[in-house]
Amino acid sequence: MSNNVKQRQTIIAGNWKMNKTHAEGMELIDGVVANLPDTDAEVVFGVPAYLLKFAAERTKDHTNVQVAAQNCHFEDSGAYTGELSPHALAAMEVKYVILGHSERREYFGEDEALLAKKVDAALRNGLHPIFCIGEKLDVREADGHEALVEKQIREALFHLSAEAFGKIVLAYEPVWAIGTGKTASPEQAQEMHAHIRGLVRAQYGDAVAEALTIQYGGSMKPANAADLLAQPDVDGGLVGGASLKVDTFVGILERA
Ligand code: PEP
Repeated sequence: MSNNVKQRQTIIAGNWKMNKTHAEGMELIDGVVANLPDTDAEVVFGVPAYLLKFAAERTKDHTNVQVAAQNCHFEDSGAYTGELSPHALAAMEVKYVILGHSERREYFGEDEALLAKKVDAALRNGLHPIFCIGEKLDVREADGHEALVEKQIREALFHLSAEAFGKIVLAYEPVWAIGTGKTASPEQAQEMHAHIRGLVRAQYGDAVAEALTIQYGGSMKPANAADLLAQPDVDGGLVGGASLKVDTFVGILERA
């Protein structure tokens, strides 16, 4: 492969959601960093907004450890009380922002039109979106999961140029597997990830599709991580519950 072809990066990102005080968060980050296994994977801490600055400072000496915000607004700044400026995130050395998480979709009414604007804002400020897609159980049972994921990607992301799309990380998160203890089987994950990569290939070509990192998310833990990560199109994980403890998050990192 020539030097100017972007390689696919394995990324394991923890999504802490609305958990941890400052003291608890720093203890968790220090514990993970002190026990980092030898891995080529990039390790990401998706911490609550009030911990971003501290997390960035705490991890700055580790080039393969990065920080993610869990949301951002679609404007760079302005009169949006309580919102998170993508411009300010970028200025804090935050590399990633999680967008389109099913909890944002479900509890905060975020849809593809809004998310497309958030993606644009993130990219305009130099942030890399970790963009979440995935179906609820009734959609899978009605065999509508591939069509739904295609719609989510098409409407929120396919307006981007190939260069801009190259900065996106996708996270396939079947909603029925998030926080439920139910995991997609390695075969179900691989089937969907291959479908997603095929859509990206048709839109942007081979090089962009091959370089795209597609994480799996949904009850990933040390016991199932190796089988999921062994799938050819599964390039990492977005990890909720298991990212909240040193041993379970490190246990996943050891399998990456
Ligand atoms: C998530 O919320 O992104 C997630 C995957 O959660 P969990 O690992 O707890 O299912």
